[in-house]
Amino acid sequence: NVSSSERMASHPMQRFQFVVVGGGIAGVTCVEQLASDFPSAEVGLITAASHIKAVANFKQVSQTLEEFDVEERPSSVLQEKYPNVTVIQSVVRSLQADQHTLQTEDGRSVGYEKLCICSGARPKLLTQDQPYVLGVRDTDSVQEFQKRLSSAKRIVVVGNGGIALELVFEVRGCEVVWAVKDKAIGNTFFDAGAAQFLIPSLEAQRPPRDAVCKRARYTTEQGPEGGSDGGPEGGLHTFTAGGDRRRPGSGSTGAGSALGPDWHEGFLLRGAEERPQGVRVEYECEVQEIFTPSDPLRPQPEADYGEWPVYVRLTNGRTVGCDFIVSATGVVPNADAFLQGNNFSLAEDGGLRVDDHMMTSERDVYAAGDVCSACWEPSALWQQMRLWTQARQMGWFAGRCMAADVQTQPIELDFCFELFAHITKFFNYKVVILGKFNAQGLGADHELLVRCTKGQEYVKVVLRGGKMVGAVLIGETDLEETFENLILNQMDLTPYKDELLNPNIDIEDYFD
Ligand code: FAD
Repeated sequence: NVSSSERMASHPMQRFQFVVVGGGIAGVTCVEQLASDFPSAEVGLITAASHIKAVANFKQVSQTLEEFDVEERPSSVLQEKYPNVTVIQSVVRSLQADQHTLQTEDGRSVGYEKLCICSGARPKLLTQDQPYVLGVRDTDSVQEFQKRLSSAKRIVVVGNGGIALELVFEVRGCEVVWAVKDKAIGNTFFDAGAAQFLIPSLEAQRPPRDAVCKRARYTTEQGPEGGSDGGPEGGLHTFTAGGDRRRPGSGSTGAGSALGPDWHEGFLLRGAEERPQGVRVEYECEVQEIFTPSDPLRPQPEADYGEWPVYVRLTNGRTVGCDFIVSATGVVPNADAFLQGNNFSLAEDGGLRVDDHMMTSERDVYAAGDVCSACWEPSALWQQMRLWTQARQMGWFAGRCMAADVQTQPIELDFCFELFAHITKFFNYKVVILGKFNAQGLGADHELLVRCTKGQEYVKVVLRGGKMVGAVLIGETDLEETFENLILNQMDLTPYKDELLNPNIDIEDYFD
């Protein structure tokens, strides 16, 4: 039993010009930006997990749309690529912003000139300490979900964001009751029309799980030590089941990086039932109460709910028994470790407020990715959403701002924050969302144009004052670049409104 003061003594203060906390996409991109911009500067990365997330196969699809894969790699890969980077694998316990120092769980003291906090977010659980409620965030939590699902006959999924959408679609052999607080599924990304387009995919006979593969996968070949196993080409890791569960920092403590695109690939999400089971959507409701059969406060059953390990009472009056509950109701920024003794301004969602230089309210402290809340006056066509793309863009831009600050150079907000653009897949359809795709913040001051071909494509355009301000494209529409241009150049489309979604007109040619 080594006391913390003894441990402190064994670790003299390490000093770096730049320190980044968090080995997710935001932190790693920030480190890479700093390390390549300043080859002579010492850059420290402190991260809780032994593996980092790296962007691979980056592709700029259009001016603002980008696509990439995410690889989980041993952190040694970063040090091999950038000799000026030192990775410290430990959890940051506290920050003394006035002294420019950080303390880690294993007793280190780390000094910085400029710090970037990229500690991500954790699932917002419906209740804490309820063994029947699971959150999905990192490899270990998906493995736990998979294990519990294998003997489950019915689960309740709560939430209406991207994770819930993917989950209900991927689960096989288990009845899913999906509780959404909105009038339509996928409200975070779509409107009711798009939801109607997607609903048949939940009802259709879905292909066996392994026939669905969206992007290239990599194999896990973690060595027995869970450490370095080669150079950049030799150490690929992914979110495959059977990874080393002893790996520090990827457990339910929430210390691991968030999963991302295709997180469910490689996990067989199968329940206990042989026959296909359906998805039942409970609209416009939230969880009122969760109770178990032995719960002394359990309400008197009004009806026979069946014998289940746990019951969920919904605000629509229904009570559903199930094997367990998946809480996919959003995330909470991981800012706690940095708050005590400092004066950070926090946004309503608990994120560290950052300005248009990714700077927090504390001097020389920046933040990027899921942990931060963008509090600058945004472009009329951009909003923050806690997604991979924005984690990468913010990490990259934070690195550039830190560098500009050191060199006392001015820096403008990057073009990537001009237009919200996201490309993904839901229910096996390509999905592109642009700008104010859900008419966010527009009130009644907008007009929608919609084109839908069942089972093939759904195209929605949001117009304000005759100008395009947002779009949702589901399926292989091939419209993303043209629509992106029309949104960016704010051309008055009033004369073309009737033709805009005419499938017989080559719209790209039309506006060439
Ligand atoms: P993270 O990736 O969470 O990384 C945070 C890092 O900080 C980790 O390395 C962690 O170990 C470290 N850390 C935390 N606290 C400390 C501490 N105190 N000390 C030291 N280190 C610390 N986005 C999409 O765009 N598309 C998707 O399809 C998609 N699917 C998703 C599916 C799931 C299940 C989840 C959970 C998220 C998904 N997201 C998706 C969101 C996306 O994963 C996140 O927006 C993104 O990963 C955020 O990156 P980040 O670097 O800010 O944080």
